[in-house]
Amino acid sequence: MRAAQWFAPRDIRLVVVEKPVPKPHEALIRIESVGICGSDLHYYIEGRIGATVITRPIILGHEFGGIVESVGEIADPSLIGKRVAVEPGIPCMKCEWCRTGHYNVCTDLFFPGGPPYDGVLCEYAAFHADFCFPVPDALGPVEAAMIEPLAVALHTVELAQLKPGETAAILGLGPIGLLTAQIAKREGVGLLIGTDLLDYRVEAGRRYGVDEAFNASTEDTVKRIMQLTQGRGVDVAFDTARSSDTAALACHVVRPAGRCVFTGISGAESDLMPVSVARRKELTVRWCRRFRHDYPRAIAMVAAGSVDVTSLVTHRFPLERTRDAFELVCANADNVLKASVDL
Ligand SMILES: [Zn+2]
Ligand SMILES: [Zn+2]
Repeated sequence: MRAAQWFAPRDIRLVVVEKPVPKPHEALIRIESVGICGSDLHYYIEGRIGATVITRPIILGHEFGGIVESVGEIADPSLIGKRVAVEPGIPCMKCEWCRTGHYNVCTDLFFPGGPPYDGVLCEYAAFHADFCFPVPDALGPVEAAMIEPLAVALHTVELAQLKPGETAAILGLGPIGLLTAQIAKREGVGLLIGTDLLDYRVEAGRRYGVDEAFNASTEDTVKRIMQLTQGRGVDVAFDTARSSDTAALACHVVRPAGRCVFTGISGAESDLMPVSVARRKELTVRWCRRFRHDYPRAIAMVAAGSVDVTSLVTHRFPLERTRDAFELVCANADNVLKASVDL
């Protein structure tokens, strides 16, 4: 089968590799669409996320949808022929964290496109059938692939325990920030503030439900958010950026006894945090690690039309142009929000 393989930073080539054979519990999926994620960009450019380093040529990609072509002998045969959204992280289901419901932080997790494992920028992949979620007919390949980032945003908002009428700020209006904005609005958030360093994303924020969006490269984030909240700060601050500064900013813009949720991946192994500010305010700070148990709700929300994932995918590329897709997203060119590789 054809695959887009990463060889070195900014070097992805089309290669031919062996088509996988499903194990007894697995489904073989013909991949239809793969979204390019902010985390993929770290691997594409730097070959690493913090201490997780690529040490051999690998296939990237983990946000995907496809059609189940066949299943192993103990996997559910009713999956065959169905379009599925797939939870990419396959946990061990045996460790203490898996057994206590926190399977997203399993320490023995298989994650496609995260070294050392190959991802899904290729024609076929085999996955644990229990992590393949059939989607209704109304969802196409792109929507099925977007279930993954939507699940991240759902988990992000759920960690914040947002109450109707509360104020919130979203630092970073990429796809995760824009999905977080849509969900927060549906949860009844009051004033919703959003920032980004790119004007076109500030504009996108307004389209997806942000009430007060501004460019943090030309305006002082803390000052502006304090003004907008009459000096109080927001109840909840979300860091959804690929930046080393936004987690610290979140601590500054949130009110005393407020909540911060950090979902963005800066790529650094350690970042500076204003711990004295966080202590004096007695903040509740939560980090988001992907999602857990969020796929069924994410699928239901897209099926019901209560969240728009489709329009976030602004650019589509064929597999042989995977490198161009990465370059476009890296450069934030042509007002890109999400790029997908469609097979
Ligand atoms: Zn992702
Ligand atoms: Zn586990």
